[in-house]
Amino acid sequence: MPELRQDPLSQRWIIISSERAKRPNDFKLRPVEPHVGECVFCAGNENKTPPEIWAYRSPGTERDQDGWWVRTVPNKFPALGIEGSLNEHMNGLHKSMNGVGAHEVIIETPRHQIETHQHSVEQMQEIIRMWRDRHLDLRQDKRLKYVMVFKNEGSDAGASLEHSHSQLIALPILPKAIEEEIDGIKRHLEAANRCIFCDMIEQEKQDYSRMVFESESMIAFCPYASRFPFEIWILPKRHEPDFGFIRENEIQDLGITLQEVLARLAGTLGSPPYNLLLHSTPVNTDIGVSYHWHIEILPRLTKAAGFEFGTDYYINPTPPEIAADSLQSFH
Ligand SMILES: [Zn+2]
Ligand SMILES: [Zn+2]
Ligand SMILES: [Zn+2]
Repeated sequence: MPELRQDPLSQRWIIISSERAKRPNDFKLRPVEPHVGECVFCAGNENKTPPEIWAYRSPGTERDQDGWWVRTVPNKFPALGIEGSLNEHMNGLHKSMNGVGAHEVIIETPRHQIETHQHSVEQMQEIIRMWRDRHLDLRQDKRLKYVMVFKNEGSDAGASLEHSHSQLIALPILPKAIEEEIDGIKRHLEAANRCIFCDMIEQEKQDYSRMVFESESMIAFCPYASRFPFEIWILPKRHEPDFGFIRENEIQDLGITLQEVLARLAGTLGSPPYNLLLHSTPVNTDIGVSYHWHIEILPRLTKAAGFEFGTDYYINPTPPEIAADSLQSFH
């Protein structure tokens, strides 16, 4: 019998359809041969990207030259542009404003053949530092309300270049997904007077059936109402609304946790495509409630279609307990 599960945060319903239960092997993909050509993200091709915004590089090396290990550049085809004012405008029912914002690419390694899950823990920590640094820099622009780091891994998840990279987008408006989470936080606060994410951490630790990995300050689990097979959330155990205020020990633990979780995901499913989202509290805005930053990893093994678009509900063929079990036991 399929089971309907409600996500405590978004109150979205998920259909866990054990009828068509899928095990890791049903999803296993064949590894793709990496190809190296005239890749603009590779070391030596720095002049083929727009001028760099920020890079971690060896002392004595020049901007837009070799010698870096993590490098941030503007997106060559930005979804939003940094110039101008918002100019909100209303025409009858139709609201518009200028597409003011920022769209940056974080090149995670100078080497082409390294997949994200193959980064060393130290490299992963450097990438997290770069996410933090860009987060803190962009919010100085008071027009911006939201900064989101995300990653598309694999062409089925929207990646147009295979060289390992993440992206950062800064928006002048609050994303609907964040407004929904804020509503969920408020609802739980009124009902239980506690942070729903902190409560989730407690419940997942006690239950343990959906736990994937735990380090001193981070926890990774498959959420109870997972929208996608092998969906994984990573949360800091310390209640902190703002990713920009991540502490040094948390950067170290997040590096360990991300590396471990992504390696297990790749090992269990054969490098599946996925989207990674980093959700943090809005910037330059008072939301009247205390957020709890987190990472969501959404493997793209099923395709959203009419049912999902029409209802905003999801059918997930893999119970998160089964997903967590195979991720736990993978080494
Ligand atoms: Zn490359
Ligand atoms: Zn919390
Ligand atoms: Zn979220």
